[in-house]
Amino acid sequence: MAAETADRPQHPRPGRRDLPADGGRSYSFEFFPPKTEAGERTLWNAIRRIEALAPSFVSVTYGAGGSSRDRTIEVTKRIAAETTLRPVAHLTAVGHSVAELRHIIGQYADAGIRDVLALRGDPPGDPRGDWVRHPEGFAQASELVSLIRELGDFTVGVAAFPERHPRSPDWDSDIRHFVAKCRAGADYAITQMFFDVDDYLRLRDRIEAAGCTTPVIPEIMPATDVRQIRRFAELSDARFPDALARRLEEARDRPADGHRIGVEYATVMAERLLAEGAPGLHYITLNRSTATLEIHQNLGVAESGVRTPATTAP
Ligand code: FAD
Repeated sequence: MAAETADRPQHPRPGRRDLPADGGRSYSFEFFPPKTEAGERTLWNAIRRIEALAPSFVSVTYGAGGSSRDRTIEVTKRIAAETTLRPVAHLTAVGHSVAELRHIIGQYADAGIRDVLALRGDPPGDPRGDWVRHPEGFAQASELVSLIRELGDFTVGVAAFPERHPRSPDWDSDIRHFVAKCRAGADYAITQMFFDVDDYLRLRDRIEAAGCTTPVIPEIMPATDVRQIRRFAELSDARFPDALARRLEEARDRPADGHRIGVEYATVMAERLLAEGAPGLHYITLNRSTATLEIHQNLGVAESGVRTPATTAP
């Protein structure tokens, strides 16, 4: 650990060893590296509000290239150095040689960061284009998992896809490759965004049927703005329910109503996921804390939480 982090409260690690078997759960929040000074202020405002909840961890996404990647590294290191939070660094294999990946992982280790979400990444420019590996890099996330494991005492997370990875030809191969990532040393997985709890439950059943016990943490994306959520859902190939889309369309010019609808829907999803035994929740914040904090407080998990009945069934 870096010297400046030694005296801060230690949060449980998000890995298999830290997800207690008897109802213990991991609650985490995801940020992205901002491009502007104003974006930086918004991010840090959100980080400080979320810090007060003492979540299990927070994670920072890894950009498609260049300066956004440097910003990921800077933000992650700053969270480690200046907050009580436990940062998980996303890292992708896109455009990196193995030597570069080693160097980045080494930078994280030097900054006291011991938790990495290992991802293959999408082809730069066109996420639906053909994946081309770096000539001296990796073809799959499982190879990155093995490298991180080899380099030190890291916890390693991986991605899971409740509606199957969009480039997987069938469920069998999707699950087989997922299990390979787990066997390579993943401690836990976080899902892609989804809007139907049954998709998560079916994925979990398939993974269990393949003999894999790696905990799969569902991702919660508050759908408060119909235009934004449609764009994200399209990029990730997540099915967006028509009924929710209609309600959000009707509230298009009433942002407060859109916000309430999105928070209610996500609260109902989160309640059901927890009732079904999900090992935690991973909230997408888009660097704004309000919606995710409301959902979390609705669940009665936060110390200051107020339990409010949710009304819409996903
Ligand atoms: P892989 O596990 O390598 O799988 C990719 C595809 O290859 C799948 O279809 C899989 O079945 C197939 N495959 C795997 N192994 C083999 C094999 N041996 N032979 C043949 N096929 C194989 N992207 C970013 O750029 N930055 C981020 O910060 C980021 N964060 C994310 C966080 C989460 C929680 C999730 C769910 C996704 C995130 N992504 C991010 C997106 C992710 O990088 C893409 O979805 C990517 O297309 C898949 O990554 P993966 O790690 O699952 O890849």
